[in-house]
Amino acid sequence: MRKLLIKNGFVASVDPTIGNIANGDVLISGDRIEEVGRDLEVTDAEIVDATDCIVMPGFVDAHKHIWQGAAVRAYCTDWSLDDYVNYIRLNVAAAFGAEDMYAVQLHGAFEAMNAGVTTAADYCHNIHSPDHAHEAIRGLQDSGMRVVWNYGFNYPPLENPVFKTFDDRVAFGRDVAKTHFSSKDQLLTLGIAPEELQHALDNDTLSGQFNLARELGAHIFWHCNSKKPLGIRIPRGVARVHDLGLLGDDILFVHMSATEEDEWKMVADCGASVVFTPDTELQMGMMWPSGDIAKRYGITQSYGTDITSNNSADMFTALRLGLQTTRCRVIDREDLLGSGVPFTCEEALRWGTIDGAKALGLESAVGSLTPGKKADLVFLNTKSLSLVGWDRSNVAGTIILQGQTADVDSVMVNGRFVKRHGKMVGDVARVCELLEAARARISETIEQWGGRVLNEGESDRRMAAMRSSESGTFARG
Ligand SMILES: [Zn+2]
Repeated sequence: MRKLLIKNGFVASVDPTIGNIANGDVLISGDRIEEVGRDLEVTDAEIVDATDCIVMPGFVDAHKHIWQGAAVRAYCTDWSLDDYVNYIRLNVAAAFGAEDMYAVQLHGAFEAMNAGVTTAADYCHNIHSPDHAHEAIRGLQDSGMRVVWNYGFNYPPLENPVFKTFDDRVAFGRDVAKTHFSSKDQLLTLGIAPEELQHALDNDTLSGQFNLARELGAHIFWHCNSKKPLGIRIPRGVARVHDLGLLGDDILFVHMSATEEDEWKMVADCGASVVFTPDTELQMGMMWPSGDIAKRYGITQSYGTDITSNNSADMFTALRLGLQTTRCRVIDREDLLGSGVPFTCEEALRWGTIDGAKALGLESAVGSLTPGKKADLVFLNTKSLSLVGWDRSNVAGTIILQGQTADVDSVMVNGRFVKRHGKMVGDVARVCELLEAARARISETIEQWGGRVLNEGESDRRMAAMRSSESGTFARG
């Protein structure tokens, strides 16, 4: 088995028993970490010099809709949640062909890995047809990134939906699982993303989606208790699944700012996790990340970048924004003065690595530099203009409040470098060409439809179409 000895880096392991090691070594054997320490005695390994680098576990982006990436980059930057739902989910989403799904997924994974993200939960809720799913998955397979791909039950209303009934979608979920996820030891694993409650689901439809996940051994990812979905607060999502007996430690609840006290306790009691996406939450009225509440209940919290149609795909920004807004919220509420601030950069580093891994059900595989785990690593170049002079006694603070994508020197996924010395290893030119072609196709279709923005009556009509019919049939007016 091929061995690599990463030598002389500043190892920020995020493993509590290993801690930080200045001038440390990491021995990689095949796709796994074999040993972490100082001056490791190895004679049969290829040496990788990590002098002047912080060597850390790859970031885990715990909530991301990769399909909604650079082909619609920055569409939403001045939009509210209502605008986002009406214009992207009920309009622009329908313009994506299967070929576009391949391009955006491949590109989105490249963009994330370039920024030091080695694992993501990809909430893929734009599966108009079987080919959309197959191509989305193929894009990720070709990228070499570790992804929990979530089979999303919802998609925009279409003129001729391929999936006519709920049973069709369940049956196709089983097909996808069999076709792409039957091997246990692969980079891509399966998740299920049930529809949100604003789709006016009856109990059987809601339970059916959670039950399919359990049948397939898939982790569950669910948008829940956002403050103002569609301008109407749909509260008590956690209580609803609790009453249906569907809670479990295999659920990652997304957003959650309108969660009530008894519901937080339900989440804690069942061992489920939460994920916050500060960029979209702060902008779109999904409100403050509830990191302080999650901590109070001992709930594992993670962070995500959500949509590149709005904000950047790097976890430096998501974690920094999450940490600083949570600090401010607590300082303001408790009128804190004097020494110290709530939450440490050390905690934020855990949110973005080991806690993210736990939230995705991958804690035994990734999230820290621990012998036996998969070799997913990031090297940050501390000789960069932005990191040089860094405080050797505060590596977490350096990463969280100082680091940026430009400092990501090398990235390894599963023992293989996907970025080396500041450059992606794969064919970036091809990835960008495919993405640009997808962008042009999608943009042309949207122009033919009369633009991104719908008038209010039209978006109401489409939402009603999606709610009133299982198939989401919609006649384009
Ligand atoms: Zn989301």
